[in-house]
Amino acid sequence: MDDKHVESDLARVLITEDEIQSRIRELAREIEIDYAGRDILVVGVLKGAVMVMADLARSLDRHVAMDWMAISSYGSGTASSGVVRILKDLDTDIMGRHVLIAEDIIDTGLTLSWLVANLQSRGPASVEICALLRKPGAQQMAVDVRYVGFDIPNEFVVGFGLDYAERYRNLRSIATLAPHVYT
Ligand code: 5GP
Repeated sequence: MDDKHVESDLARVLITEDEIQSRIRELAREIEIDYAGRDILVVGVLKGAVMVMADLARSLDRHVAMDWMAISSYGSGTASSGVVRILKDLDTDIMGRHVLIAEDIIDTGLTLSWLVANLQSRGPASVEICALLRKPGAQQMAVDVRYVGFDIPNEFVVGFGLDYAERYRNLRSIATLAPHVYT
């Protein structure tokens, strides 16, 4: 879905489809160099990372394995609690594997720091993170994000996998919502 189909719902397009795609291609080139000679297992976190995973994996000009996890934070509201429950675990044993987590966005970093600790406990050769978006709050947590697409302001964004009430995930760009959408 293009911006024009939901123009009245959007406050501002922060990152266009072209900008996203060219940044993902740049990240893929970095990843190819860093992982030369090593197998990669890309792990996507459902549902938000679906688009990042699909486009990053297709931009990589080499073999990669892909697997998925679904996790949910306990507690209600929009604030991240850091307490996480696994809804769907990996199908793959990651012992001795090079794991690259593909994420849509890091806000506080609580979810990812939990996920990294969880995956580290399974004995992988390495765990790194590739996140398309990073908000300023991510600096609070000691999450080492190796690959970052864009640093964005502390605003709620939708598109490219990110939803508001399960809508806008299929928007090709990243945008903020107009106030009337929330009311
Ligand atoms: P964290 O644990 O880093 O605070 O939260 C990360 C998760 O919160 C993301 O994976 C995403 O699901 C959700 N999230 C954080 N910021 C945004 C945002 O601006 N828009 C949307 N749609 N989800 C967000």
